[in-house]
Amino acid sequence: MSNTKTVRPYLDIKAQIEGRCSEILLLLGINPLAMATQITCPVAEHHAGRVSFRVNPVTNRYFCAHCQPKGASLVDLVIQLGKAESFAAAADYLRAGLDIKPQKTPLQALGDMPDPLAQIISKKHGDHPVQTDDGDPVNDIPLFEQQITAMLDAANPANLHPYSLHRRFAPLGARATDGGNLLIPAHDHAGNLCGLLQISLQGKHLVVSDGRLMGAASTLGQFKDARVIAATLDWESQVVLHTVYGGMPIIGYLTPDNALLAVDEFLTSATKEIWVFAGPRDVPELQAGMTLYANNNDLKLKWFSTKEPDYSIAYAKKLGSFPHPT
Ligand SMILES: [Zn+2]
Repeated sequence: MSNTKTVRPYLDIKAQIEGRCSEILLLLGINPLAMATQITCPVAEHHAGRVSFRVNPVTNRYFCAHCQPKGASLVDLVIQLGKAESFAAAADYLRAGLDIKPQKTPLQALGDMPDPLAQIISKKHGDHPVQTDDGDPVNDIPLFEQQITAMLDAANPANLHPYSLHRRFAPLGARATDGGNLLIPAHDHAGNLCGLLQISLQGKHLVVSDGRLMGAASTLGQFKDARVIAATLDWESQVVLHTVYGGMPIIGYLTPDNALLAVDEFLTSATKEIWVFAGPRDVPELQAGMTLYANNNDLKLKWFSTKEPDYSIAYAKKLGSFPHPT
């Protein structure tokens, strides 16, 4: 990777605004009290000015009980407030407002990237104590991270699970609830839990996130020092490809619009190639977008596609062992 590479807009802005929440709120004309309590939503009027909006200064994300989506990053908030039309423009708006100088830093090596699962497990043991309800109504909405951490916490490692048994693969990276739902955590490159994919016993998918995943993804394999990293939409595809390719590090980006952000999030200085395993639910523009991204970042792109719903089905069909749906 060349040292002059500067095209990492998403990861860059996240790092650049770290710890600067109060300044951002001042810049946007929002009462900084939002970092501690709920205030009237600055995005839209809801229910006669009911207080519903707050900001998490640690994650730089906002949350509003009545907005749709319910929350997103502070960069997205710039767009929601009509101060920019795109993510890139919003990032520039913040850089200008906070006097962040453009920098030509090489890709930061993620050599000390923590094991995401270990992080999730350590979080359960008190790094992020669940807010106690002291009777103050502003504490009634627990932080989203705490909710999904609690969901994972209440689940058990998925061993022999009917859904993955039916699909003939191991439920790698998943936990299972008492009710039989599979939970697959989506985290960012630093291991922060940002969302969940929930799969019911019948195979119904639900992505649980507060707004957009913003590059957070399900991951399998070691990304540190990996020359090739792969990406695919579905967790099912991810598990099968990871297994078939002998442990290849692979991202499950979980929603079609999260593909580029997720690749950008998990790229390291060692990455030279991106392999994308596309399927019928991917957006048609993905290949063009990924090609441009690869060119901008001096990466080789390998493109695969299947007409099957996902690669676990494609693989099982090739084996001639795909069971009939129950
Ligand atoms: Zn709102």
